Amino acid sequence: MTTLKTYKPRTLIVGAGVAGLTCASLLQRQGFNPVIVEREPQTAFNTSGYMLGLLPLGGRVLNQLGAREAYFAHSIEMQTYEVHREDGRLIKSYDLDFINQEYGSYRSISRADLITILLDSMDASALRYGVTVQALQQQDNEVWVTFADGRKETFDLVIVADGLHSTTRKLVLAEDEYAYYDTHWGGWVAWLDEEPETIYREYWGASSFMGVYPVKEQIGVFLGGPEKRIQEIGFQAFIEQERQQLGDEYPLLHRSLDALAKASDPFYWEFHDVRASQWVKGNVVLLGDAASGFLPTAGVGASMAMDSAAALADELSRSDTAHLDYALKLYVRRQKDRVEKAQQDSRDLGKMMFIKSSVAAAARNYALRFYTLKALVKNISRTIEGA
Ligand SMILES: Cc1cc2nc3c(=O)[nH]c(=O)nc-3n(C[C@H](O)[C@H](O)[C@H](O)COP(=O)(O)OP(=O)(O)OC[C@H]3O[C@@H](n4cnc5c(N)ncnc54)[C@H](O)[C@@H]3O)c2cc1C
Repeated sequence: MTTLKTYKPRTLIVGAGVAGLTCASLLQRQGFNPVIVEREPQTAFNTSGYMLGLLPLGGRVLNQLGAREAYFAHSIEMQTYEVHREDGRLIKSYDLDFINQEYGSYRSISRADLITILLDSMDASALRYGVTVQALQQQDNEVWVTFADGRKETFDLVIVADGLHSTTRKLVLAEDEYAYYDTHWGGWVAWLDEEPETIYREYWGASSFMGVYPVKEQIGVFLGGPEKRIQEIGFQAFIEQERQQLGDEYPLLHRSLDALAKASDPFYWEFHDVRASQWVKGNVVLLGDAASGFLPTAGVGASMAMDSAAALADELSRSDTAHLDYALKLYVRRQKDRVEKAQQDSRDLGKMMFIKSSVAAAARNYALRFYTLKALVKNISRTIEGA
């Protein structure tokens, strides 16, 4: 029989990233006491990172956490998205204001600032740093957890939120229950210290891709291409090739390339994603990138992770320990299909962006002039509308 005392499940969250912290903070508000374990030691946690565009889909969850003021103080509202040729010339400019007007503020923030805001919204003493899970064993309606340091603990629910390269997922799913989708492209992120404009700029080339993504008081710069080519010629030569295609009339781009060239240890990003066919095994549930990871192309992974965290916390808050399987079933029903559709948009965009041949790139550039933003990301538009 469920007693009043035990109806909140003993919960473990693996991974203190965007999804894990959002879920933890929301659950704390509902009277849960989740334990959160994070692989990074506290000294290395949240010390580096990249830039995030947050659609209202994700950003509005921060309202729920009472963190709107901090979020607005540490981010900027985006007005325009521009796609350019690799030589700098503009192909198409998209006004983002319809998002800001219809759905909520579309904002840009550094991942480090977002993580800090999430930590400030919760009781962070529940976080254990430098901890990973070694084994998970379902036993009746509980999960016996063995941590990498040999300690063992029992939980009613384990939320796996350790990101795209989740190792915890491997303890739960069989190899044929998740699959990576690899574009064989990758690249580096660096920071340019200057006051930004509220424009996302991308440069879609043949065998190269560059992005200039402002956040508050800084600009995140990305440069990438086919991994084979990058490996063949090396990072600095790749930057110089990119520079040679540019005219002098694009000083922001030259400064961006300088920032990449000078970066001592730029973040390397492999362009692949992952999709798990099962999100739930017994009392273990996948969340965020661990369930469905995203390519960077549509800039929607963090928003979806926060949206899913809110849906999971909502279903759990209405449930009790004895009926977790029902709550998890409802969470999957709410999220899996819409997450996978948004993921499909990101893949489809990737096919347009990651083109090697200059003939195909020219055809793509021509066709792009006739695409609306809603047509480029049709599923994401529907997801935002709640479909
Ligand atoms: C360069 C870059 C740019 C991006 N830009 C955007 C963007 O503009 N907009 C957008 O919406 N999305 C963007 N994304 C995607 C977005 O960052 C992810 O979709 C989002 O962070 C997913 O959240 P998550 O919590 O599932 O994973 P993460 O935020 O990656 O968090 C996973 C956490 O788990 C920890 N961890 C890993 N392994 C273990 C383990 N074994 N045990 C315990 N802890 C572990 C990690 O240290 C990390 O703290 C970008 C991603 C990158 C890399």
